[in-house]
Amino acid sequence: MKILKFGGTSVGSAPRMKEVANLVLEDGQVKIVVLSAMSGTTNSLVEISNYLYKKNADGANEVISKLEKKYAEHIAELYSTPEYQEKGMELIRERFNYIKSFTNKVFTVFEEKEILSQGELISTGMFHLYLLERGVKSCLLPALDYMRIDKNNEPDTAYIRENLNAILAKNQGFDIYITQGYICRNSFGEVDNLQRGGSDYTASLIGAALLADEIQIWTDIDGMHNNDPRFVDNTKPVSELSFDEAAELAYFGAKILHPTCVLPAKVNNIPVRLLNTMDPKAHGTLISGHQCPDRVAAIAAKDNIIALRIKSSRMFLAYGFMRKVFEVFESYKTPIDMITTSEVGVSVTIDTDRHLYDIIDDLKKFGTVEVDKNQCIICIAGDFAANKKGYASAIFDSLAEVPIRMISYGGSSHNVSILVDAQDKVAALRCLSAGLFK
Ligand code: ADP
Ligand code: ASP
Ligand code: MG
Repeated sequence: MKILKFGGTSVGSAPRMKEVANLVLEDGQVKIVVLSAMSGTTNSLVEISNYLYKKNADGANEVISKLEKKYAEHIAELYSTPEYQEKGMELIRERFNYIKSFTNKVFTVFEEKEILSQGELISTGMFHLYLLERGVKSCLLPALDYMRIDKNNEPDTAYIRENLNAILAKNQGFDIYITQGYICRNSFGEVDNLQRGGSDYTASLIGAALLADEIQIWTDIDGMHNNDPRFVDNTKPVSELSFDEAAELAYFGAKILHPTCVLPAKVNNIPVRLLNTMDPKAHGTLISGHQCPDRVAAIAAKDNIIALRIKSSRMFLAYGFMRKVFEVFESYKTPIDMITTSEVGVSVTIDTDRHLYDIIDDLKKFGTVEVDKNQCIICIAGDFAANKKGYASAIFDSLAEVPIRMISYGGSSHNVSILVDAQDKVAALRCLSAGLFK
């Protein structure tokens, strides 16, 4: 069984949905299709929620009306028979009435998550009806019945496996199974989600739960490019990546993949293909256990990083210093991305300011603390095994004109990370492409 995930742009209009239907029906094989919300929808749902947090029902209603009107147009374009036109409109009415029901209620994070889940519920409902109209035996698998996160917000893999398999066992004999990306329940049974961009994660969690033959992530570009195409010209698709390289790139900002979606595939050794809905014949990128030796694979950048430097004149003598520093971050459940040390201090980076001031207060017990906000981690991924020479000098020669705040090399043989000020990010990405992919 293959799992195929289509992102927002891939299902962003009626003609695009029809293209996706052609694509998934082409080979006649049974498959699971994971869909995101139509492009722009989740952003609009975030906007609606922000108005409702501010008790601005008029603002929310304006965005809701605009969105509903757009969906009525999609419905008119998608279905060709009056019967399915009506079914489509009924789906939209029901979902939008539900969204509107929140405009005169107390609004908290629980209501927000209900609203955010509507995009995927609508897109999968529309696509399912479209396949039925075409005479395809389509089955809708409700993600809220099997996708769950635990109290640490980690996927509850045993629950997912058991429940997804049970639902599939009860629903045999279909051609295509459609399900929602992104949405899930939490350990309290409430509607929740896998964070923005999380539909990729849904696909890989399903792939892992079913030990699928392959996970395909269909998007609007022909695979993982060797640098961020939003900031660098003439980037090229990388035809093969190892799980480790792909995981580093996804975690450090390559938007084409959700940060944690590689792990379930890696653990179960399931190949992941990144493919282009606009150019389905393009090779794209194959992510697998195979490591291409001795090369720089790609560069990515992660924004909104905060660097903290903790200086202690007694650090050299004080064994246990690092442990105490790490315990502070642990106590605020704040992961550290990069770390560098010297005899008098340690620099670390974090990607959230949620507990920043508490963390700083606690760290001050051990020495002075300097904070640099608006930093950016540049990640260079590839195979830099210890016996390969020349990578560090090629990287730093390329960055000769860019001020560097931190360097991390050797944590794994697949990553070199460099911290730069956010204002130098684009220059750093461009210099690295010019220097490393001549
Ligand atoms: P989807 O909606 O299909 O999930 P995303 O917008 O999340 O699509 O991801 C695809 C986008 O990721 C591309 O359009 C591209 O702009 C961006 N991107 C950033 N870095 C890379 C990269 N290294 N390779 C390919 N795409 C990248
Ligand atoms: N619709 C969600 C988002 O826009 C999830 C996804 O597209 O992967 O973030
Ligand atoms: Mg995405």
